[in-house]
Amino acid sequence: MTLPTRSDLDAVPAYRQGRPAPAGASKLSSNESPHPPLPSVVTAVQQQLGSIHRYPRMSAPEVIGRLAERYGVDPALVTVGAGSVELAAQLIGAVAGAGDEVMFAWRSFEAYPSLVRIAGATPVEVPLDADHRHDLDAMLAAITPRTRLVFVCNPNNPTGTVVGAAELERFVDAVPRDVLVVIDEAYVHFDRSEYFDGPDRGAGLELHRRYPHVAVLHTFSKAYGLAGLRIGYAIAPAEIADAQRKVAVPFGVTDLAQAAAVASLDAEAELAIRIDEVVAERDRMRDALLAAGWPAVASEANFVWVPAGDRTAELDELLHAGGVVARAFAGEGVRISSGNAEDADRVAAALAAATDGPAA
Ligand code: PMP
Repeated sequence: MTLPTRSDLDAVPAYRQGRPAPAGASKLSSNESPHPPLPSVVTAVQQQLGSIHRYPRMSAPEVIGRLAERYGVDPALVTVGAGSVELAAQLIGAVAGAGDEVMFAWRSFEAYPSLVRIAGATPVEVPLDADHRHDLDAMLAAITPRTRLVFVCNPNNPTGTVVGAAELERFVDAVPRDVLVVIDEAYVHFDRSEYFDGPDRGAGLELHRRYPHVAVLHTFSKAYGLAGLRIGYAIAPAEIADAQRKVAVPFGVTDLAQAAAVASLDAEAELAIRIDEVVAERDRMRDALLAAGWPAVASEANFVWVPAGDRTAELDELLHAGGVVARAFAGEGVRISSGNAEDADRVAAALAAATDGPAA
């Protein structure tokens, strides 16, 4: 006899990490920073090691204080989580349960449908348009009295496309005020479109200020290079932030992660140089893909989406043979993270090594 598990989990796949990269390969499968941590961040983490026999400070006072000050918001609206994925789960848990619907574009961040199902709610996936962008009109049309939350992943993972600030405001304005709009800006630092409104701002924060039903998600995993330490933050309406604190798993964010986040906020000028490099290499990588005949989509994130369709496996293998580990979505396409110049060179060389490039 086997132990019974929740039958609704049958529809939930376990989260899939990109395939392991062999030693020496370019690991371009998880949208990470290609750089090791800054020395100042390492020092800040080391200073915490002597107190790891204590539980971390759940109120994360320094990092929340710094973020509240930086954005000019009440600290009560700011929450930290073990990565922004934990905050996405908290936000869902704060507003949605059995019988409720949570909407997002598809394809988008792979964790959304699982997190919604884990909360017992129903995921509603609205296809991206032909240009791989959010179809906001279709999303509006899909709102029902059961809709509790809508994610807008901006820039979108894995397509790298962005909804402009004005377009997003029209959408937010049209969404009923009892539906929470979560603008997931995990990749906003790499955005050079008009959506970008100064360092680490995007347009989400401004919409949060102006509308009572908007929350913003940011992470230290991508541009700040702290993926391994697990820390992200949300800025949400007060009642939502209060509910998040109720559904949060206690002690999820270590003092090590909190110290690293503060040190990273102190090091933004240094990090900006790294971000600019990733953006430049992203565009160079896209050019190489286009030159080789692959349909690479213009990206505002730290990756490039190649909707290769039935040639997905072929492209994935081509890259792999050239020492590049990317993320393939079977039958749909390949997402290649942007790394440093060597990584982009490897991608270009792998494509050039193909004797018979794809048909036009
Ligand atoms: N949002 C989006 C759109 C993502 O792509 C990711 C990571 N792949 C996350 C959130 C979560 O990142 P983290 O938990 O590391 O902050």
